Amino acid sequence: MHNIFDNEQLRAVLFDMDGVLFDSMPNHATAWTQAVASFGLYMTRKEVYMNEGRTGSGTINTLTQRSWGRYATEQEVEQIYKAKSAFFNQCPTAQPMPFAREVVEAVRARGLARVIVTGSGQLSLLERLNVAFSGAFCQELMVTAFDVKLGKPNPEPYLKGLAKAGQALNADHSPLLPSQAIVVENAPLGIQAAKAAGIFCVAVNTGPLEDEVLLDAGADIIFPSMCALADYLTHKDA
Ligand code: MG
Repeated sequence: MHNIFDNEQLRAVLFDMDGVLFDSMPNHATAWTQAVASFGLYMTRKEVYMNEGRTGSGTINTLTQRSWGRYATEQEVEQIYKAKSAFFNQCPTAQPMPFAREVVEAVRARGLARVIVTGSGQLSLLERLNVAFSGAFCQELMVTAFDVKLGKPNPEPYLKGLAKAGQALNADHSPLLPSQAIVVENAPLGIQAAKAAGIFCVAVNTGPLEDEVLLDAGADIIFPSMCALADYLTHKDA
């Protein structure tokens, strides 16, 4: 089978962060389940993985509708999200996903731009990315919570990714075409967002969900780990 990264049109790879570059999802699962329990709500760890990529308020409203039959007030959203962040900050620092460095280096070796597209809004993000991935990412090529109004599964984050990449790479600063990029995602809502933006989506199943969930979300190809994706990237016409 033709290697999808051999496509001559390809200019950039758009990386999701949590569950792709950093092994941070177990911490998010712990933080969400504990935080919402302290407000009399409940969320299973699996539900955290199913909702990954949604905005904080989107996730919280799903839970309050189920348990309280109504949307959360703005104040409740703020309190619950603050509690979630506090629990998250108590967790051990998430390490880079095993073989994420190899994947990023293989993308770099192919001469492709590396773009971050995350719903996360941690200010220390770039610093951590630079430490873990030794300068493979730059500020101009990052889409974070501060750049978007609508979280995944809306295509907005990935469309912004194409725009930022085009701004940096094209002489006329026009956005990259969807066909000039590939997305790497681990979460169903992230895959939906990538597909809604018209971009080929590589799913990497680094969590507890069934492959079927990622394929049903629209993944074009699926790998069981970043290790498998690194292998694929370093073999031409594998
Ligand atoms: Mg993710």
